[in-house]
Amino acid sequence: MATKINAYRATIFHIHREPLGENDHRAYDFFEDGLLVTDHAHVLYAGDYSELKHTLPLGCTIHDRTGMIIMPGLIDTHVHYPQTDIIASHGKQLMDWLETYTFPCEKQFEDAGHSRQTAVFFIQELLKNGTTTAMVLGTVHAVSVQALFEKADDYTMRLVAGKVMMDRLAPHYLRDTAQSSYDESKHLIEHWHHKNRLTYAVTPRFALTSSEEQLDAAGALIREFNDVRLHTHLAENTKEVDLIAKAFPWSTGYLDVYNHFGLVCDRSVFAHCIYLSDTEFKLMKEKAASVSLCPTSNLFLGSGLFDLGKIMTYEIKTGLGSDVGGGTSFSMFKTMAEAYKVCQLKGVTLSPVQSFYYASLGAAKTLGLDQVIGNFEPGKEADFIVINPDQIPLLKRRISMAQRPEEILFALMILGDDRMIYETYVNGVKIPPLT
Ligand SMILES: [Zn+2]
Repeated sequence: MATKINAYRATIFHIHREPLGENDHRAYDFFEDGLLVTDHAHVLYAGDYSELKHTLPLGCTIHDRTGMIIMPGLIDTHVHYPQTDIIASHGKQLMDWLETYTFPCEKQFEDAGHSRQTAVFFIQELLKNGTTTAMVLGTVHAVSVQALFEKADDYTMRLVAGKVMMDRLAPHYLRDTAQSSYDESKHLIEHWHHKNRLTYAVTPRFALTSSEEQLDAAGALIREFNDVRLHTHLAENTKEVDLIAKAFPWSTGYLDVYNHFGLVCDRSVFAHCIYLSDTEFKLMKEKAASVSLCPTSNLFLGSGLFDLGKIMTYEIKTGLGSDVGGGTSFSMFKTMAEAYKVCQLKGVTLSPVQSFYYASLGAAKTLGLDQVIGNFEPGKEADFIVINPDQIPLLKRRISMAQRPEEILFALMILGDDRMIYETYVNGVKIPPLT
């Protein structure tokens, strides 16, 4: 089959590396009249339209998106797909939230039909919000993850997911055992890990809901499969942190529990990380583990304010997560807006380029996928979004006043949402309009 070259003319924005400060304009490209050129599924190059227009091969299709903005598809580093149906549930904090809303909702995913139907809605919701990759928790049921992988694979999406391992402090109907969680996770890894663009993450829910035997089994899987990821929660809520100290009296802290079982490594992503000591941040840095920050969830559940200043000081790999259903939106733009506000309350000024870094290339690094997604370097996979700011009148008006690229980016993250996503491309293919 002949290679199909496509060129997209629009404002093109992408980030090369983590910015070294607010004025590090070399960390990114912003071509006001730019061109993104792809072959079937990969980026060929991106640059200035006037410089590149003569280089286009014969037969290349040019898609004129003048007035719109193209950027890499965004990456959500922490989200629960089964909790799609309990988003916006009132009045609880983490531990009661789990008991009241989460566990009863997750029970339904023992049913393959329910899992499939929810997976389809979830993936469509990601794509219409401009999120092309996510790190996702299923439920304790292997069938929930099976359904999610199947549906993600229908779109040839890059998705990282895993079955929740949970053998205590949960209702009986949601518990597995150390052995069954090991066996089922292993079976899923053998079937799905590296199938097309899918990756597996070993997923103990959090240390409280796993016995030591089960955490040990999770560690065994991490050692046995040397490129699966580890995905779990860490230090989200003060009550949770107190319970961890009681449950693991031998530990020196929450992260020490995971470390004891070999779960802290360069493949680990820990969601939240609000209540960590300097010693723990140091350990995280030493082990090259990653953080997923989930501001809409932290505010909604009243969990607390993360300390991005400290995380940046320790140079810990960082991404943003929607954490739906504790989180209140699938939109990574809304997630960036809330991250900015959390930082304001902590006396840290989060720059727009840094925010987009955490939702694109930085997030790709936390998932070990920065060689294949996250920006428009030649050869990377063609996951990108086309944004039409005119679809939100207030945003259109604000952007018309903007003098600098950073102002435009900031307006997008503060005022933007799914209404402005004009098109989403996954692996070079335009996703049909979603309802
Ligand atoms: Zn979560």
